[in-house]
Amino acid sequence: MKVEMNLDNDSNNLVQAPTNGNSEKLSPSTLSSLLGSKDRYYLLCSTAAAAETDQQVKISDLEGKVIGIYFSANWYPPCRNFNRVLIGVYEQLKSNGSNFEIVFVSSDEDLDAFNNYRENMPWLSIPFSDLETKKALNRKYDVESIPCLVILQPDNTKDDDTYYDGVELIYRYGVDAFPFTKEKLDELRREEKRKHDSQTVTNLLTNPERDYLLDQTITRKVPVDSLKGKTVGLYLSAQWCMPCVEFTPKLISIYQKIKQALQEKGGGEDFEIVFVSNDRDQSSFESYFGTMPWLALPFRDPTARTLAKYFDVQWIPCLIIIGPDGKTVTKQGRNLINLYQENAYPFTDAKVESLEKELEEAAKSLPRSEYHAGHRHLLTLVSEGSGGGPFICCDCEEQGSGWAYQCLECGYEVHPRCIRAVTPQSSIEDRIQLDFSRQLRDVSHERFSADMATSPIPARNQANEASSKFPYKKKKERIVRQVFCF
Ligand SMILES: [Zn+2]
Ligand SMILES: [Zn+2]
Repeated sequence: MKVEMNLDNDSNNLVQAPTNGNSEKLSPSTLSSLLGSKDRYYLLCSTAAAAETDQQVKISDLEGKVIGIYFSANWYPPCRNFNRVLIGVYEQLKSNGSNFEIVFVSSDEDLDAFNNYRENMPWLSIPFSDLETKKALNRKYDVESIPCLVILQPDNTKDDDTYYDGVELIYRYGVDAFPFTKEKLDELRREEKRKHDSQTVTNLLTNPERDYLLDQTITRKVPVDSLKGKTVGLYLSAQWCMPCVEFTPKLISIYQKIKQALQEKGGGEDFEIVFVSNDRDQSSFESYFGTMPWLALPFRDPTARTLAKYFDVQWIPCLIIIGPDGKTVTKQGRNLINLYQENAYPFTDAKVESLEKELEEAAKSLPRSEYHAGHRHLLTLVSEGSGGGPFICCDCEEQGSGWAYQCLECGYEVHPRCIRAVTPQSSIEDRIQLDFSRQLRDVSHERFSADMATSPIPARNQANEASSKFPYKKKKERIVRQVFCF
């Protein structure tokens, strides 16, 4: 029932191979035992290449290359999204002669799906039928979620040369991540830190061709410099993304409350939001931005892509808060708005800490358990330390963390503020009506999610048994996030 909220501000920590003390060099024989089997010394080459050459590539040909072992499946949208990005990176690396190869390990459901998926892949694959090898690789690299890209160095003499988070490295650094050595990654991180240290609102939001933003008229230009000294929210969002469309009105109302409170307070302090669009065409950009009372980057401005990369934005909606000094305050603006509404302003650590203390205090006076109008079982108050933790509220569908009312029977969980207390004797008909409307909502959510929404870390193997029994729990695990891709 836990969902990953990715509350870390800094996702620099790389997941590395568990050290078992046995260093291994990727010699031909190691490679063969890793990627081949008793009677198979080859890998399938890409279907495009297969037309021209032999259908197979000898495993020994991979010797001396940096190898990405790529666990993925056609049926899972985040894999398909990552696949597109990976193809771009791979082709660029190949065209500049880099010593890189990828081997696809399929989690597809059948041979047709595998062949379909492989059709677009310019790299090598383990044959679909070789279940044994696929299983062994999953086990060896302890693959817990897909997509997963494990990077092996040609001379794997040190355990810490194996990177398990190739997906993140590719999303974050693209081709620059190659050859994925510790030295290279350290260098990229230093570079990134240098950029963040010298960050200002002007260098974030301008480029050589543009030093202005658009206001709601879309034609009037507002100088970026007018944001200096303000707290600024960068709102990465798109009209095609349902969670974005649901979050925007809430953000508008909170924005207006913050602006009003600052005006009443006086003193020149100000808050502004800049919409960074991921819309697919000018007209959706205009109709979506038309609902927003703040500023925007022009549609398809190159800075939008730069910002997404720079802040490592993988999911929308995303609200990044920049302080009056131009430095990043938090990338968790959306969560903080959901948790604390307008009280979240100015989103600083000190503010969040004091809000958390207030919540702790307030929780002391909350009833230990409660019947909620939207659920048939008794809900129990839980805290972070007593079975709680990050969750999706089954009532308002937004993220929560810390205190929650949780159904110990089925995992249903709501924010304390979303509780609509009822007495257990309250009319059965009411309850039936509520359950029925919830079922309808579940259905619409399901349809949507099949297409776009993604769960954070889906079980790559089998869906967890418990969750398939309980619709509410299952629903909670379907965290509503959207991939931010240009
Ligand atoms: Zn809620
Ligand atoms: Zn329940």
